[in-house]
Amino acid sequence: MREFTLNSLAVNAAVWATAVSAGAIYNECMRFYPLAVGLIAMFSIASHAIPMRSCGDYAAKIPNVKPHLCETAQLQDMKARSVQGRPIWGRDVQVDDSLLRILVLGGIHGDEMSSSSLVFHWIAMAQTPPSDTPVAIHWRFIPSLNPDGLFARPAKRVNAHGVDLNRNFPTPNWARDARRYWEGRTQKDPRRWPGNKPLSEPESRFLLDQMDSFKPNLIVSVHAPYGVLDFDGPSVPPSKLGRLFLDQVGIFPGSLGNYGGIHKGVPVVTIELPSASRTPTDAEMRQMWIDLLRWTSDRLGPGISTAVQGFSKQQ
Ligand SMILES: [Zn+2]
Repeated sequence: MREFTLNSLAVNAAVWATAVSAGAIYNECMRFYPLAVGLIAMFSIASHAIPMRSCGDYAAKIPNVKPHLCETAQLQDMKARSVQGRPIWGRDVQVDDSLLRILVLGGIHGDEMSSSSLVFHWIAMAQTPPSDTPVAIHWRFIPSLNPDGLFARPAKRVNAHGVDLNRNFPTPNWARDARRYWEGRTQKDPRRWPGNKPLSEPESRFLLDQMDSFKPNLIVSVHAPYGVLDFDGPSVPPSKLGRLFLDQVGIFPGSLGNYGGIHKGVPVVTIELPSASRTPTDAEMRQMWIDLLRWTSDRLGPGISTAVQGFSKQQ
């Protein structure tokens, strides 16, 4: 009996101890619950950011881009994949009450590595805008639209299907003109194959989705190596960006300038850097940036942005 009582006491004590420790654990859990939720949230946000390993890969391919510049760009997964399944990375930089949306694209041609570099340098500049920036801008940067072309060995202009993405946009009469242009004017240059149909490629479809959802007031597309500035669409073109001067070289079936600028009415500034493998100096890249801001403010700024937006919506 005594033994039973002792045993009962022991059992009761054990149950009580278990209850107390379970309660303590519960209390501890509740103390750390907000921290855990915060960590999970941070992890899920971080999991969409470009990994350091990928920044190492980009830095190894793109001139004048060190891993640190790529990491501080804080690129996010834009939820699009190239033909070979590579993520397309992008970065939004915006201030409150942005009046204008500008989409900046690099590397639509994978072997024009300097174009991606310029976009990385401009992301850094957009994060520390001059205090006298005349107009509030929501920037969206896509430094490498054709990662399969960039990471091919050697790098290629076309994507993994061999399509020139800058001839794959659905301009009017594409079916007739794009093939005719490719066969006649380019002599079936494989670097300029427009594809079997417009928007046949995931990379060009992604860009079209961006135009439809982000609704940019301006698109800036960076290329190389012709050393000029081109412009399509409404508004007065910029006469120069840094040392690049305006030289409107013509219209190509299926090109972004033709589709965005002429067909959709969104101004497209096409920058042709002078070299595909070397970037302009830091001072030159900054001057181009400042000239772009100035032209944007003059031509697309507060007084006329509404008109441009209205025009875009009609398309
Ligand atoms: Zn190009």
